[in-house]
Amino acid sequence: MKHTQALVIGNWKLNPGTTAEAKLLYSQIRKKVSKNCLATVVIAPPFLFIPEIAKTIHPKIALGAQDMHYEERGAVTGEIGGGQLAAFGVQYVLIGHSERRALGETDTQVNKKVHAALKRKLTPVVCIGERTRDGQGQFYQDVATQIKALTTGLTAVQLQKVVIAYEPIWAIGTGLNATAENVKEMQLFIVSTLTKLFERKVAEKILLIYGGSVKDSNARELYTQGGMSGFLVGGASLEATEFAAIIHATELGN
Ligand code: PEP
Repeated sequence: MKHTQALVIGNWKLNPGTTAEAKLLYSQIRKKVSKNCLATVVIAPPFLFIPEIAKTIHPKIALGAQDMHYEERGAVTGEIGGGQLAAFGVQYVLIGHSERRALGETDTQVNKKVHAALKRKLTPVVCIGERTRDGQGQFYQDVATQIKALTTGLTAVQLQKVVIAYEPIWAIGTGLNATAENVKEMQLFIVSTLTKLFERKVAEKILLIYGGSVKDSNARELYTQGGMSGFLVGGASLEATEFAAIIHATELGN
């Protein structure tokens, strides 16, 4: 079921290059998000910019991180733990982004991260999606496998704190967005898969968002017809006017 309050997340990936540029981009976005904004807006900058951005956080923009480790301490060189993120005011964390999975992240690690994030009261935004689409619809099975893995060991109460981002890999950063019809069909499929694992009334409450080449020009149609409750935005979140237009597309209602 579509949530009344949309969620729009900007994933800056490995951008911009300096703290000064990050502060500037953040302040440009800040100016464009009104205090009465109807959507929940999240910015996920690179880790190193989080402390600076946290100093000027807008009441309507929550802080996100692009990844986390499932361990809180120990011999895991180069990693950041959930407790460290929470200490800087981070509220959302992307988990299992396809660009992390491409570097070797497994479904088992994704599941461990979901549990670790919830333990720290961070909202896990778990990315799932097929690499390509075959004519027979086999790609739905890849998505079902990811859903099963990410939800392993979760109670119904925990699941309701998880956001699922459907991000078909072929649509990320390519300019080729899924159609609103593709998104709607996947929304129904995700709910039916979750219903097999939990109860229908639980499955219907899970906040689902879409990501993959969302821009000003396609946001409105994807939002009204795709059946999902918001967006995970990469490239277009690096341009304040474009990102604000995407947020606005969700504020006009269904
Ligand atoms: C992403 O990074 O999650 C993403 C969806 O990127 P883009 O919007 O650039 O396709």
